[in-house]
Amino acid sequence: MRENYTLTRIYMDAALQAGARFELPKAQAHYLTNVLRLEVTDELRVFNGNDGEWRARVSDVSRKKTVIYIVDQLRAPQSCPDIWLCFAPVRKHRNAFILEKATELGVSLMQPVVTERTQHAKLRLDKMQSQIIEAAEQTERLDLPTLKETVNLDQMLHNWPDKRTLIFADEGEDAEPVMNVLKKLKGPAALLIGPEGGFTDRERSHLREQKFVKSVSLGPRILRADTAALSLLTLWQAMQGDW
Ligand code: SAM
Repeated sequence: MRENYTLTRIYMDAALQAGARFELPKAQAHYLTNVLRLEVTDELRVFNGNDGEWRARVSDVSRKKTVIYIVDQLRAPQSCPDIWLCFAPVRKHRNAFILEKATELGVSLMQPVVTERTQHAKLRLDKMQSQIIEAAEQTERLDLPTLKETVNLDQMLHNWPDKRTLIFADEGEDAEPVMNVLKKLKGPAALLIGPEGGFTDRERSHLREQKFVKSVSLGPRILRADTAALSLLTLWQAMQGDW
């Protein structure tokens, strides 16, 4: 058990090194001083997604500002395994669930993808980013998953990177059991989950034509998109990731 587990942990988009001082953004200052009631000399942990985790100390608290300074490094940088989650956006609270659980499950990149039956294409990427940061703070990650700009399915397939397998969660009857595919999987991978209404026949055949696509079944029942995302990521982590 890491001895500093109990210290509050915050994300900061800043270069972290011993002796650096930062005036906290308003929201974080409020959280630390008014909610957690941290005072001068109290300690916390800070990470920025690249430089590992650092011990910090509150050096100045006033109505106007809260300043912390960086003391020393507690944990060296560490990245989660390379696994992408491509998902058709669904209704807001379920999207938030996907972002949170995928961050906890160690996804390295999230790609919202608009499909023909996507009903919630308008996304607040800034809001989604803060949901990801909140999940990363809680789950003790040292890196942050990358959140990409939304693309549509055909564009995504057209620009698909070499050597990366796209594992397509296909609710059609003839898809291969997921474990058979994961057992044989080699090299980098991405997972693809459809929207509430699923993929159209055109999309399914277009996906199946791609040589980098493997379509998999997640069992005999129809899962909600967020359940499918969580389940497929869990299986990938257990078979190919860092569990
Ligand atoms: N079209 C589905 C239906 O028949 O009602 C609903 C789609 S489901 C809510 C959302 C997505 O989750 C699907 O597009 C697929 O990517 C994934 N999914 C759900 N159940 C699945 C299963 N049993 N096997 C493979 N993928 C599944």
